[in-house]
Amino acid sequence: MDIAAIQSAITSIGSAIGLVTKAQSLSANIQNQEIRQIVHDLNDQLISVREDLFKVRTENFDLREQNLSLKERVDKLSQPAELVVIEGYYRLQKDVDKNEFIPYCGACYQTKQKMFQLLQTRPPESVMGNFKCPSCHDFF
Ligand SMILES: [Zn+2]
Repeated sequence: MDIAAIQSAITSIGSAIGLVTKAQSLSANIQNQEIRQIVHDLNDQLISVREDLFKVRTENFDLREQNLSLKERVDKLSQPAELVVIEGYYRLQKDVDKNEFIPYCGACYQTKQKMFQLLQTRPPESVMGNFKCPSCHDFF
């Protein structure tokens, strides 16, 4: 249920409560106790539904906020701003600054926007390349 539908339901329930309140004051003149009780119970039920809708609306707001925050985190993780390409190897600027050689798969980054750290081949410097991607199995 989206926020507009929740808001519309809250407005409808508010109108229904108004009608029931009117019926309650009219039923004060009615001698039939059963009808008066039904109108009273109907009012209680509508108020209960409205309270549930308020909770749903609050939960919806919280979940939207949480979803937005998670999307931002995923964007940051999948597209590191500090990515650099040096001699054909995809590396993070922070690793380069620390003089650490940690290459990532450029093919996977370009096709899937995912960062996979390349693994050193055994033995090193094979004819295929020094590094292998654990995801696409390409050699570099
Ligand atoms: Zn790969």
